[in-house]
Amino acid sequence: MIAEENLKCTELLNLVIDGQASKEQELELMQHVHNCPKCKNEFELNTSIKESLKERLKRINTPKELSSNIQSKIIELAS
Ligand SMILES: [Zn+2]
Repeated sequence: MIAEENLKCTELLNLVIDGQASKEQELELMQHVHNCPKCKNEFELNTSIKESLKERLKRINTPKELSSNIQSKIIELAS
């Protein structure tokens, strides 16, 4: 039972992270992360990495200092 539930929320999480989830699935995950710290961490981590990558792509001429700040932030979040 527990394993099944874990699989389900991992699948849901991946769908949302990939942007392939329906609005309903997205809502389901939002409610789920309130009760599941593991998913919450993973979701927040993935969201921040995605946002940082987007920011980096937006600024092609990102100063070196700034990109290392972003990198250390990712490392900070990952630890
Ligand atoms: Zn979960």
